[in-house]
Amino acid sequence: MTKLLNEEKKNSNYQEQNLFCLKESRNKMSLDRLKYFGHLLGGIKEVLHSRFIAKRPRPFTFSHLVTSKCNCNCDFCFWKHHRDNEDLSLDEIKRIYKEASKEGYMNSILWGGEPLLRQDFTEIAKASHDVGMYTKMATNGWFLEENHEFGNYMDLIFVSIDAIGSKHDELRKLPGLFDKCVSGIEFHKKRYPKMRIYVCCTVSAANDFDSIKEVAKLCKDLDILLYFTVNKSYHSFEEWENKNGFKKLELENDNLADIFKKIKILKKQGYPIRNSDYFMDYIINKKTFYHCHWPQVATVMYSNGYLLRCSDRKPIISVKDRPLKEVLRSEEFINMVNICKDCKLACVGNYALDASGLWRFEPAAIKSLAQIAIT
Ligand code: SF4
Ligand code: SF4
Repeated sequence: MTKLLNEEKKNSNYQEQNLFCLKESRNKMSLDRLKYFGHLLGGIKEVLHSRFIAKRPRPFTFSHLVTSKCNCNCDFCFWKHHRDNEDLSLDEIKRIYKEASKEGYMNSILWGGEPLLRQDFTEIAKASHDVGMYTKMATNGWFLEENHEFGNYMDLIFVSIDAIGSKHDELRKLPGLFDKCVSGIEFHKKRYPKMRIYVCCTVSAANDFDSIKEVAKLCKDLDILLYFTVNKSYHSFEEWENKNGFKKLELENDNLADIFKKIKILKKQGYPIRNSDYFMDYIINKKTFYHCHWPQVATVMYSNGYLLRCSDRKPIISVKDRPLKEVLRSEEFINMVNICKDCKLACVGNYALDASGLWRFEPAAIKSLAQIAIT
């Protein structure tokens, strides 16, 4: 009971702190957001170029796991089985980002592991920013205040919050994490007002709609944005089950559809949910397959410099000691991208579904993503 009362008190504290913020939303349309529009329009231009002009794959999103280390121990984490890899050095990263920009990559997503464990993360963010890439980061939120200067170079961050209070700490196996996330978000709102802040909430068997709704309320109160991702740990599941505490937490399609029906209603009610209707309808209608074009849009580089094949998350080709220009034109890379045409996994845990809809110029995808862009 005391625990419950403490949770309530904590919740009401952050709501009180944020009442003044709600007078004018930090997510409103502004001149600063034109930069974001430039980024979106550039993406469409690159899709057109990749589809109709380029003779080889021309991805334009550079997804970089800057470290394999993490201070959390989530049951559904695939990446924690690879924590012994040696991370690229700052100089190697700077070289690769420069080459990435020259090769047409126009945005980056920096993640891990926990990217803010790297003491040189601000330099990494600056390197991405300075070569002109629209720079995003995904973090568990623990070090948001301690290692905050990255905010000078960051366009957008995703902070993982799956539930409120100690329930989130239990899911991520790190006591005190929820409080650190909320206070870190508050800090960045004030210190770096132009940076867009998203909460990324993983929908899995470990949370339910009630806790998801509480997360949506939190985001509304904090005046930040919310994106739901879906736990899909089927890759190599049998191989990893019960190793390092890895558990299957995927929801069945029926449960997932029920939850997303309710999430869609929350969105209509004005909660700051940024999943597209295209994405939610796919799940609500229990579809299980789409032709994926994600590897044609995004290249994933692991912390040790290997580019990953997403269908099995296997390292294929390294850019650590080889120019990116050469790697992108190699047979291994082209095959790695083209294999997506045969991929049956139909991921819904990232932006693959939306990006693939745009790639095919599906009106429903264009409409629902355009609605998100202008709100
Ligand atoms: S916070 Fe992310 S990287 Fe860290 S253990 Fe959890 S899922 Fe894995
Ligand atoms: S569905 Fe797409 S993103 Fe997922 S593994 Fe297959 S090719 Fe990769």
